[in-house]
Amino acid sequence: MTSHVLDLAGAGIGPFNLSLAAQLDSVPELAVRFFERRPSFAWHPGMMLPGAEMQTSILKDLVTATNPTSPWSFLSYLVAHKRFYQFLNAEYEAVPRKEFADYLGWVARGLTSLRRKRARSPCQ
Ligand SMILES: Cc1cc2nc3c(=O)[nH]c(=O)nc-3n(C[C@H](O)[C@H](O)[C@H](O)COP(=O)(O)OP(=O)(O)OC[C@H]3O[C@@H](n4cnc5c(N)ncnc54)[C@H](O)[C@@H]3O)c2cc1C
Repeated sequence: MTSHVLDLAGAGIGPFNLSLAAQLDSVPELAVRFFERRPSFAWHPGMMLPGAEMQTSILKDLVTATNPTSPWSFLSYLVAHKRFYQFLNAEYEAVPRKEFADYLGWVARGLTSLRRKRARSPCQ
């Protein structure tokens, strides 16, 4: 029989809970779920202005400070998208917010503990 008892439930999937979900992905013995009211992940939709850059280090991603070997780091995202060497050689001073938002979306799509509101469902 499948148990539906959770150790942790989170309301909303913004960077805060996404970080928690990514951290807990390496703790499979915990049953965790995060619930988002939007149908898909979006970080400040409508605010991805052209040329806007992050003001924080890429090491301040969702996981690196506490779990540098996590598969959900920004560097893992670059490798998965075959952008690591390009990124390294370009020596960017800052990451575009659009790219960081894409990183966050990549993590959100990869984690199995996340649940979103179903699109066009009249019951939700
Ligand atoms: C315009 C703007 C630009 C910013 N730029 C940066 C930046 O460049 N760098 C930086 O470090 N910080 C930036 N910030 C700070 C920002 O607060 C954080 O980046 C981050 O978005 C905070 O994450 P969060 O998860 O706490 O909240 P949010 O990003 O607000 O996410 C909350 C999520 O919870 C969902 N939700 C809320 N209530 C419910 C509910 N009852 N049920 C289900 N889902 C729910 C929402 O739909 C949303 O997806 C910026 C903030 C703003 C407003």
